[in-house]
Amino acid sequence: MPNLFNQALTQLKKAASLGVVDPKALEALEFPDRTLNFTIPVRMDDGATRFFEGYRVQHSSLRGPYKGGIRYAPVVSESEMKALAFWMTVKCAIADIPYGGAKGGVKVDPKKLSEGELERLTRGFTRALCRFIGPWQDVPAPDVNTNAKIMAWLLDEYEILTGEHAPAVVTGKPIPLGGSQGREAATGEGGAIVLDQYVKDHGMDPKKMTVAVQGFGNVGYAMAKALHARGYKIVGLADSRNGVRDDNGRGKEPGMDPFHILQEKQEKGMISGCYCKGSVCDCEHYKKISPEQLLVMDVDIIVPAAVENVITEKNAKKIKAKIVCEMANGPTTPEADTILERRGITVLPDVLANMGGVTVSYFEWAQNIQGVSWSAAEVETRLKEKMLASYRVVRDIARERKVSFRTAAYLLALARLEAAMRAKGVIK
Ligand code: GLU
Repeated sequence: MPNLFNQALTQLKKAASLGVVDPKALEALEFPDRTLNFTIPVRMDDGATRFFEGYRVQHSSLRGPYKGGIRYAPVVSESEMKALAFWMTVKCAIADIPYGGAKGGVKVDPKKLSEGELERLTRGFTRALCRFIGPWQDVPAPDVNTNAKIMAWLLDEYEILTGEHAPAVVTGKPIPLGGSQGREAATGEGGAIVLDQYVKDHGMDPKKMTVAVQGFGNVGYAMAKALHARGYKIVGLADSRNGVRDDNGRGKEPGMDPFHILQEKQEKGMISGCYCKGSVCDCEHYKKISPEQLLVMDVDIIVPAAVENVITEKNAKKIKAKIVCEMANGPTTPEADTILERRGITVLPDVLANMGGVTVSYFEWAQNIQGVSWSAAEVETRLKEKMLASYRVVRDIARERKVSFRTAAYLLALARLEAAMRAKGVIK
């Protein structure tokens, strides 16, 4: 497995080499503040105890409390966690929200655990994390394979341990526990806002644009739904195992309705309401396609919305889309990025395109702290404002300096982080 943290730093250094950046500021970002490793014992349903590996990397708290999701995945490594935590620092700076960056994970295939085992694992991880998190210290949220239900267990365990009501310790919670309207769909909605603005800026007609989305978890589904609602033609959808292709969507047909695909997927069975047994490929009416084939489909836009490193030097030359909208974190390797740039393919980078999730997390935290709750319409308006504000600044830097959106986004993050370092006296 490539060292993801080094890949992330390559992106940062590329931007830094083009801008006026203090080398000390750059150096400060190369080292996470803290890397925590835990062993979590869990009593399994058969009475045996299993031990799970857990991580929390707190990359930076320069601009505010550490912030970032917790993922449950069979492959979770320290270098990956460091990269993901670093991207949160960058993303929160681009979103201009008062947070630093963090990320956590447990090495586990959650699809193989019962609901009870999943709950005991989450509560065990929370006991390990307890003294390192808090509303003003570090605020976790959902990420790959985690959801509102898991955040509710985390919150409950934290409140039991501290003896205090503390809804702001975690975001992405269920609404009855202080979750925000619009949080679940926020990452996908935010991505659709950015992509749609880019499409309109370039005089293209959404109704004529074909899209393939890789990933059918929270982000992939919400993104596909938000694009479908805006008239884009969804002609390819894939989850981690399989996908479907709609050849009729190219003509006058409207393309696939992601909601119907979700219904069909759900009908095949759910495990404890958390994970799906069925696969997108079980849907009828469409042709089967693999998640890898989906990325090289003959479409206008591809949306990698699953995991990192899916666009590599091996397939970057074969990509036919003109726009790549990164909804996963780190889906494109630096080598592939160079190939795409050379080929004139626009990449709307993860740190900009998927910042809608953490932006509504910030809204949720701000509501919790004030003891108020905003309507869905208010969240929607504020999300749109935030997404467009960041998109416009990044776009203008890209135009002015003739650099890619990714490099422009990093230049913006670096400027904001450097200003915070200077204000704190970390650098002179
Ligand atoms: N896991 C999401 C991300 O990577 C959301 C993080 C959050 O809301 O704190 O951006």
